[in-house]
Amino acid sequence: MYVYLFEEGNTNLRTLLGGKGADLAEMTRLGLPVPPGITITTEACNFYSAKKKFPEGLEDEIAQKMKILESRTGKHFGGNQNPLLVSVRSGAPISMPGMMDTVLNLGLNDKSVQGLAQQTKDQRFAYDAYRRFIQMFGKVVLGAKAEHFEQIISSHKEKRHLTSDVELDSKALAEIVDEFKELVRRETHTGFPESPFDQLKMAVAAVFESWNGRRAVIYRQANKIPDTLGTAVNIQTMVFGNLGADSGTGVCFTRNPSTGDPVLFGEFLANAQGEDVVAGTRTPKPIVELERDFPKAHQQLLALCQVLEQHFKDMQDIEFTVEKGKLFLLQTRSGKRTAFAAIRVAVDMVTEGLLTMPEALLRVLPSHLEQLVHRQIDPNYNVKPIATGLPASPGAATGKVIFDTDEAHRLGSMGESVILVREETTPEDIHGMIAARGVLTSRGGMTSHAAVVARGMGKPAVVGCEELQIDPTAGSFATSSQTVKKNDVLTIDGTTGNVLLGVVPTIEPKLSSHARQLLAWADQARKLGIRGNADTPEMAAKAREFGAGGIGLCRTERMFNAQDRLPIVQEMILATTEAERAAALEKLRPLQKQDFKEIFRIMHDLPVTIRLLDLPLHEFLPKFEDLVSETSSLKATGMDSDRLEADERMLRKVMTLSEHNPMLGHRGCRLAISHPEIYEMQTRAIFEAACELLKEGLKVQIELMLPLVGEANEIRFLKPIIVGMAEKVMTSSGQKVEYKIGTMIEVPRAALTADEIAKFTDFFSFGTNDLTQATFAFSRDDAEAKFLKDYLDNGILKVDPFEVLDRNGVGRLMQLAVEAGRRSNPQIKVGICGEHGGEPSSVEFCYQLRLDYVSCSPYRVPVARLVAGQAVAREHMVKSTENQ
Ligand code: PEP
Ligand code: MG
Repeated sequence: MYVYLFEEGNTNLRTLLGGKGADLAEMTRLGLPVPPGITITTEACNFYSAKKKFPEGLEDEIAQKMKILESRTGKHFGGNQNPLLVSVRSGAPISMPGMMDTVLNLGLNDKSVQGLAQQTKDQRFAYDAYRRFIQMFGKVVLGAKAEHFEQIISSHKEKRHLTSDVELDSKALAEIVDEFKELVRRETHTGFPESPFDQLKMAVAAVFESWNGRRAVIYRQANKIPDTLGTAVNIQTMVFGNLGADSGTGVCFTRNPSTGDPVLFGEFLANAQGEDVVAGTRTPKPIVELERDFPKAHQQLLALCQVLEQHFKDMQDIEFTVEKGKLFLLQTRSGKRTAFAAIRVAVDMVTEGLLTMPEALLRVLPSHLEQLVHRQIDPNYNVKPIATGLPASPGAATGKVIFDTDEAHRLGSMGESVILVREETTPEDIHGMIAARGVLTSRGGMTSHAAVVARGMGKPAVVGCEELQIDPTAGSFATSSQTVKKNDVLTIDGTTGNVLLGVVPTIEPKLSSHARQLLAWADQARKLGIRGNADTPEMAAKAREFGAGGIGLCRTERMFNAQDRLPIVQEMILATTEAERAAALEKLRPLQKQDFKEIFRIMHDLPVTIRLLDLPLHEFLPKFEDLVSETSSLKATGMDSDRLEADERMLRKVMTLSEHNPMLGHRGCRLAISHPEIYEMQTRAIFEAACELLKEGLKVQIELMLPLVGEANEIRFLKPIIVGMAEKVMTSSGQKVEYKIGTMIEVPRAALTADEIAKFTDFFSFGTNDLTQATFAFSRDDAEAKFLKDYLDNGILKVDPFEVLDRNGVGRLMQLAVEAGRRSNPQIKVGICGEHGGEPSSVEFCYQLRLDYVSCSPYRVPVARLVAGQAVAREHMVKSTENQ
């Protein structure tokens, strides 16, 4: 069967009948006032796409079902009395707005137009309907030029000195009809078909053709909709909203789609057809006025909205028509809504008993919640970006373009809005990043310094925007189409990666009371712990405010980012003797201790995972090229010999320390194996801080974590050093601190030997940034900007693995490690603290792996809570359908 009467379908047949067809069928089944109609299946479309003809029997089936429509309505298709007119619309299983324009009033010809005039006792109406039909059919089905029809109408108006279409009388419209037909004859090979069945067949074929039209193909590619779905065709009996003052047409939402308020929202036009509302030629009235103008239809509409919401259990977007006082529903579908409304509707529907809590959790998209914690570009604002990079840290920011970090810091501290634009950032740029409203870089990926640090701060960032040719000396950057100078105003959208010129209107972030309610339900449901990655007291406070159950990663090297600390860190790195290093460490210890005290105080009662130093040396040292250029200019001028000597010393040291592959280099626990005094200093600072807080009566739970471990013996070497120092501090202060020792699993070998490593550790935390880098052998700093786009464009990879966890490769290693680790140490706790810990599909995967917790940047904590709740809700729903 290729053709279904509406009453033969239902909402579950979306693949076959398309979304619109399935919903019309469902409304018909519910006995709602839907004009009768039929749906031609997507299977017929797929046959047509393959063979370029209708399948055997389709035409007969259409004719047969049209007969049923005739008897049901008492009208005759193409009849010169009481003619049956239909609309023809496409309707794919997944909504594809604007794929094919609707054809209305099909069935009109020179005979049936008379019938329509008689039946409605309105000659003008009939000819207006006829000219609209020829115009739509000519344009949509036969491909005639839209503006040529408009020209004919304009010339008639001019001739009669009229200003609006409504003033054209039936005589003028009859002349227009003849001229339209002549136009169609001239511009198309077929001409206008008088036979209503020919009209219908051609319109159906045009819908099928539109499935492979340019617009549809591009839309499908952009939205990852399979080409194999096909579209259905809906043929529905016409009802008229333009039959006088007691008729009208409108669209409404059962609730306000911007705010979620549970009140009818929409607009209508009296004496009009649907296209008048859409075309914007007349201004519709707000729906509240329907009550005054059409009190009966208004009452009925309110009742029907209730029925539809009760049935579909979602906010509906409805098209309706009132024909001579009688209300008809032409379409219903789940209404598109803002993030704010999505959350409010889901929560309200639980209170109203329409949804269960798990259903409500699944109604909200993670991206909805993400929008509520960051400033967003006003969705009503439309402007073309000048460039697009990676959406590294969500939110929108506007400010003056500044290339120099110190200048960004200076201006930002004075309250100016600044966007810091750099090729890439390093710890030396931190003060500029803090002072800037947003960060834009031309290099680096989703786990680059700029991305990770900006996310941690909740600051918008677009990174790896390769099209930018930055010239800091000239004080400008160029894209393919624009040159942007220092101090020009720029807006970046870290949610989409777009870079826009000038000030763009944005909307305030807000966690509404409904969002807080939804998250409380997610917390009740979830089994996965959620922690925050925080390196500063401010970040710790943010993580706690957003509901984190502890800190899962405190990167201690990031605690040295402050401008006054960097030189001391450099002193430590560059030390040539033990004594020099000890002196530098001794300067760092009180600073670290103070930071830990503040963080522990904020996080009291909750665990804090502190990762001992993982210093990427290349990030913390001055750049080789800068030193070379400075020493040569100092030599040339012959001035400042002390500075020259210091620079030359630095240059020699930088050369000694430089590595071919710094990411695989002397970092993480390797540096501590060469220089154990670094971890000794950190352990002392941590335990001294903890003991002092214990004395104040606060509870502190410490989890010390070793970075870049790949071999159990590394832990066996370092653990006694750490434990020795911890015990020493506790003994001397007479306090007992609760602490655990664990490791990052971020080197493939650590995952493969997790059983051995688990014997010496209390917990594992997956560092999936490094683990992804090492598993793919893709540099986390370069891959995304250099070649990953080609991988994505050619379908070699479906998603960026630094953003969405690669389940098949990195995920397999994680699974191995979890299983082996738990086998050898059943008490072991397992979490993740790479950037994937806040990405929705990766969080779901972590739940499937039965990790104990995920840890992510503070601003991603609400999303992680929601997704962790959704993962359980989804399981719950699957189980309950299995039991049905
Ligand atoms: C990781 O590698 O995933 C991680 C959390 O550590 P970092 O990003 O600091 O290398
Ligand atoms: Mg790492």
